[in-house]
Amino acid sequence: MRILGIEGTAWAASAAVFETDDPDALRAGTDRTPEPSADHIFIESNPYQPDSGGIHPREAAEHMGTAIPEVVETALDHAADRHDGDGPVVDAVAFSRGPGLGPCLRIVGTAARSVAQTLDVPLVGVNHMVAHLEIGRYQSGFESPVCLNASGANAHLLGYHNGRYRVLGETMDTGVGNAIDKFTRHVGWTHPGGPKVEAAATDGDYVELPYVVKGMDFSFSGIMSAAKDEADAGTPVEDISAGLQETIFGMLTEVAERALSLTGTDELVLGGGVGNNARLREMLAEMCEQRGAKFHAPEPRFLGDNAGMIALLGARMFAAGDTLAVEDSAVDPNFRPDQVEVTWRGTDES
Ligand code: ATP
Repeated sequence: MRILGIEGTAWAASAAVFETDDPDALRAGTDRTPEPSADHIFIESNPYQPDSGGIHPREAAEHMGTAIPEVVETALDHAADRHDGDGPVVDAVAFSRGPGLGPCLRIVGTAARSVAQTLDVPLVGVNHMVAHLEIGRYQSGFESPVCLNASGANAHLLGYHNGRYRVLGETMDTGVGNAIDKFTRHVGWTHPGGPKVEAAATDGDYVELPYVVKGMDFSFSGIMSAAKDEADAGTPVEDISAGLQETIFGMLTEVAERALSLTGTDELVLGGGVGNNARLREMLAEMCEQRGAKFHAPEPRFLGDNAGMIALLGARMFAAGDTLAVEDSAVDPNFRPDQVEVTWRGTDES
């Protein structure tokens, strides 16, 4: 089985091919492998890089308009090279249906529909946030982990219960990466700011910033205002960066621990581009070790937005018969993970 995945919710124009010669294992959910090879999941990406400021939806959509056809063509060439037989080079086309920027999603949806109709194969509509989780579950081999999605536009804890991924806790305002990027724009750094904060923090001394956890939810807007005020008052950016990391990642770690406790789960996976941050991974790993839980962070190419995770979840959904008619395939910029009926975990009762 070979599935094309297309991603383009915000900045990464990306296409991938997921391949397995054991679709039965995919159906049974026993296909997890800790080390997918490059052949097993092939990814071609072309990121949008704003000249100044943050991600501009119109510019990002223009980027998708030219880059999506190119990455899809490369992925299909890869599929064709590996195809030896009759029939279409891929068995289905999976695409990010949301959440994300509407103008970008519409281009991805249009591309997916046209490729699927040209090849006469089914279409699979994937929730981007559930895909961030599933790639971690796949790579870790964990059965039913809690997932911390720490991405640009989102921040939430997900846990599986009764046929859906439930939102156990989430941001009350901005996504975690976007919050960090807003601070870095304020101090004049180019996008994306997260890696620059990580580098600066290594030379900084902790500055106290508001720590905002309310029950299972968290908020970043007050921290960002306080961080900007510190910068305006002349506090070194290295010190503010150290304060930001300790505060924000401390909040995420606290709620992740509470989610593990609440669900009785002893497996945690990390998803999203902020998951590239070594300090966040260190805090989560330490917390898991202290409570005897297992922790997994996917390899970097599967953390930020990428079509590999879309192709993988697309394959699982396709194997479960979860396909989409073209007339029902409208994109949804506000597509929440708990709207997705999980069809691919079989009789899993957890
Ligand atoms: P979503 O997946 O919710 O649609 P997105 O597409 O904006 O959001 P991702 O691709 O998952 O997000 O992640 C991008 C974010 O990750 C950016 O905000 C970027 O600053 C942040 N980021 C990347 N590397 C690091 C790092 N080392 N430390 C902190 N943040 C980082």
